[in-house]
This record gives sequence, C-alpha cells and structure tokens, in this order.
Amino acid sequence: MKRVLVTGAGGFIGHHLVSYLKKKRYWVRGADLKRPEYEPSAADDFALLDLRRWEDCLKATDGIDEVYALAADMGGMGYISAHHAEILRNNSLINIHTLDAARRNGAKRYLYTSSACVYPEYRQNDANVTALKESDAYPAQPQDAYGWEKLVTERLCTHYREDFGLETRIVRFHNIFGPLGTWDGGREKAPAALCRKVSVAKRSGNHEIEIWGDGEQTRSFCYIDDCVEGIHQLMRSDHNEPLNLGQDRLVTVNELADMIATVAGVKITMKHVAGPQGVRGRNSDNTRLREVLQWEPQISLEEGLKHTYLWIDRQVRAAELGGASESLKKLSSGGRRASA
Ligand code: NAD
Repeated sequence: MKRVLVTGAGGFIGHHLVSYLKKKRYWVRGADLKRPEYEPSAADDFALLDLRRWEDCLKATDGIDEVYALAADMGGMGYISAHHAEILRNNSLINIHTLDAARRNGAKRYLYTSSACVYPEYRQNDANVTALKESDAYPAQPQDAYGWEKLVTERLCTHYREDFGLETRIVRFHNIFGPLGTWDGGREKAPAALCRKVSVAKRSGNHEIEIWGDGEQTRSFCYIDDCVEGIHQLMRSDHNEPLNLGQDRLVTVNELADMIATVAGVKITMKHVAGPQGVRGRNSDNTRLREVLQWEPQISLEEGLKHTYLWIDRQVRAAELGGASESLKKLSSGGRRASA
C-alpha cells in the first residue's frame, strides 16, 4: 500500500483529496495547522503541524512515498490582495521546507498545487480574454505576491527534479469550488460568497446582493470532484511540466450570481459596489490537459453550483437556528464579502 502525505488536509481541496485517496486504498497522512472544519478527516493519520517549520516538515514526510503539497496561506481576492507580505513569507517557508524535507526523507513523487494566479496581468486585461495556455506564464508578471510565490515554487520543483531526481508534478488550478469549503469569514472565494449572499437574501426577504465591481469580470469555475480526479491522474502520469486544471467555460460574475439565484429559486437584484476584483478576465486553455491526461473536467457549472448552494444554504440555516442573528447580519453585509 502506497503511503501518501496530503498537506493542507484541513482545507477545502486537501480534505476532499484525502477522501478520494482513501477510496483508492492509499494509506494517507494529512497534515495541517487545523483539522477540517465541517466533517472529520478520512486520513489514517492526521498530524497537526506548522509546515513553515522545517522540523514539522520532516515529521510530516517521514516514511512517505508520495506528497500532495496543498498547504498554503490563501483565500479569495479580498484576502490575497490585502496580505502580500504574509502570503509570500508563509508560503515560501511552507514550500521550501516541505519540498526539501520530502527529498531528505526519500519521497519518490511530489505534486505541487500552483494556480492560474501565476499568469501575467497583461494577458488578462479584457473580460473576453484569450484562454491561457501553460507557456503564457512567461514573461512573468503575476498580479499578486501569491502568484509570484507560486511561480518560484514551480521553478523549485523543476530544479529538485533535475538536480535531485525527485519526480515532481505541477498543477495550476483555475477557481475550484464545491461543498465543504470556506463560505464566510473573509477567505471565501466568489462561488461560495455568492451562494451565501443568495441564501441570506432568500431567507431575509431582502433580495439585493452586493457584487464587487461591475460584475462583468470573467472566470471559469471547476467543481471539486473533477479537481481531485485530475490531481490524481496527473500524479500518476509522466508529465512533469506545469498543467492547467480547470473548466474552459467563461462566465461573468454577474452570470454566476444569476445561475446561483436560479438554483435557489429566487429573483435577486445586484448592487455593484467598490472592491478588489482581480484581473479582468481569466480562462483555462485545456489543450495540453486533454493531450496529457486524455481527460478533462466533466461536471457542469450548473450541477456543481447545485451541490454547493445546497450545502452552503444548510450552513446558513444552521447559523440562523443557532440564534446567531448578529453573525447572520454580518453574513449579508460587506464585512464578509469575497470575489473572484
Ligand atoms: P484552503 O485554504 O482551504 O486550504 C489550505 C490549507 O493549508 C488550510 O487548511 C490551512 O490551514 C493550511 N495551512 C496554511 N498554512 C499552513 C501551515 N503553516 N502549516 C500547515 N498547514 C497550513 O485552500 P484550498 O482552496 O484547499 O487550496 C489548496 C491549494 O490549492 C493551495 O495551495 C492553493 O493555493 C491552491 N489553489 C487553490 C485554488 C482554489 O480555487 N481553491 C486555486 C488555485 C490554487
């Protein structure tokens, strides 16, 4: 039985990945600063560790054959655009130490989770953007420190493979969403934030929701089940260059909000307010993904949003039933917004 480590196993994608790998009969260790918030982990061993620390990374990678490196200080656009120094520092420490500890402990394979945020700002100034292919990352000019750090760790993985023979894999996610992800508190991303706002609007009877900017900024969104399937397929493949993993259907944030309202069965009005929006447009070119994996994400945005909305609606209802009227007021207000 292969022994694998999932870092960031207390987070959204890491938690789903642990469940997926357990179903595939791996022995799984999860490592994170915290346990998953919404249900217990399926991991055989769950280690509470701070992976910025070298000693903790040695403990996490001890006796491990393959590492899925997902731990990161991250959040939606509101968080990423306001914490450059912390994100660059924390994620650099996590990634340098985890990668080196994996090598020292004799791991054979290492998959690093990079991001569409590595792509240069100058290719994403138009809402009707040309989909981004992997080679578009250079000449480099990511918008935020988050993207710069991802780009440097991609290089680090490549050099560890070339210099030390550690088989590294690099995946660039494009907006992953689904149930069991952060939905309030300030780190949530656009699909979760919009599901929460629509749910609160429906329950309160005030059908107006706030959208950052004019809402005409565009993105593609990929459902979590496709994400974990793609991660595993990439780990098993021979492909060691960066690979996009996302959907290639471009929608505006306004369209996304309308789709969620349709799922909820409510008519909403949108109030456009000032707020960080990230790049104007971003889409995934999946040509290489199809070539390498002979596969691409299968689950439609509508289907994914249905599962996500129903789960977030239950969380909002639970907060309501818990008598958290103050927190519900905050849920609908600007203090807890996030956007793509
Ligand atoms: P998440 O925030 O839900 O999970 C990240 C986890 O890392 C959290 O549980 C956090 O506690 C943990 N972590 C942070 N600092 C740590 C530390 N010092 N030691 C140990 N654990 C620590 O995020 P996610 O959406 O699950 O993202 C997983 C990975 O995918 C990240 O590397 C992220 O940058 C990347 N990514 C995600 C998306 C997306 O759309 N969700 C898009 C692009 C890239």
